[in-house]
Amino acid sequence: MKCKEKPAIRLESGETLCKNCFNKYFEKKSFRTIIKYGLIEKDDKEIAVAVSGGKDSLSVLHVIDLYASKRKNLKITAILVDEGIKGYREHTIRDAKKACKQRGIKLETVSFKKEFGCTLDDMVKIADVSPCSLCGVFRRYLLNKKAREIGVTKLATGHNMDDEAQAIIMNQLRRNVETSARLGPITGVVKDPRFVRRIKPFYFLSEKEVAIFAFMKKFVGKWNECPYAATSYRGDVRGMLNGFEEKYPGTKHSIVSSFMEILPLLKEHYKSKGSIRECRICKEPCSSEVCRACEMREMLKRQARALHKRK
Ligand code: SF4
Repeated sequence: MKCKEKPAIRLESGETLCKNCFNKYFEKKSFRTIIKYGLIEKDDKEIAVAVSGGKDSLSVLHVIDLYASKRKNLKITAILVDEGIKGYREHTIRDAKKACKQRGIKLETVSFKKEFGCTLDDMVKIADVSPCSLCGVFRRYLLNKKAREIGVTKLATGHNMDDEAQAIIMNQLRRNVETSARLGPITGVVKDPRFVRRIKPFYFLSEKEVAIFAFMKKFVGKWNECPYAATSYRGDVRGMLNGFEEKYPGTKHSIVSSFMEILPLLKEHYKSKGSIRECRICKEPCSSEVCRACEMREMLKRQARALHKRK
């Protein structure tokens, strides 16, 4: 039922809501996704939240904390990956630390520098692949490793509907159907204790809705954007989808909804095809002989040697 307060936000469906009703709508929709897709189950006693200190991750920290307050015996730990992006990450780390402290949530930090010996800024200087390709592979690697070490059974991320629509289209454009099979509100094709499954409570909420929520809740001080964001392939796909959404409202929702119809078939198909192996170099789980993180590390070493020789 509509309240009598002055409407402040127009949803993509055209419905207008006051601030209070929007907050309730947002939290209710996230909870519905958690329940409908079994993102958090009775057996989950401790889960982690991946926090970067941006609007999405601080909003998901809030929603998971709220969900845990309504359920007995659900512990939360936050994990932060410091990639080493000068002029950007230090600000978001400050916001992440503040949010965790306010909520009494333990924050575990891992960094590229400590784990791989150099920051993302260092890697970018020698690599001939995009910063986001390096960042995505190494960040997923570290998050899974840390989450498994802590002993959590799920890892919540702030991925929203826009992120998912971009990932689906990117995989199509690059003929990466197997990667799409791992998408969805809960990631992965097969259950394996070495892989901590990532859960996405904002799967059906748009980036704009998450931004409004984070802004209204005052989760983020200053608007920060990664300096590498504009240079990525994802950035181009994002621009294209935003253009389509403006011209044909509902485009992103249609991409995600139609994907959800074929996702069970994709998961079933790839379940029988792939088995989880152990990386020959680092012993982390992967689908081939060497994991993507080790492949990238080897590539960086080769490129660093080549650069050194040229000098
Ligand atoms: Fe990493 Fe790219 Fe995101 Fe920056 S925009 S944090 S480089 S994935």
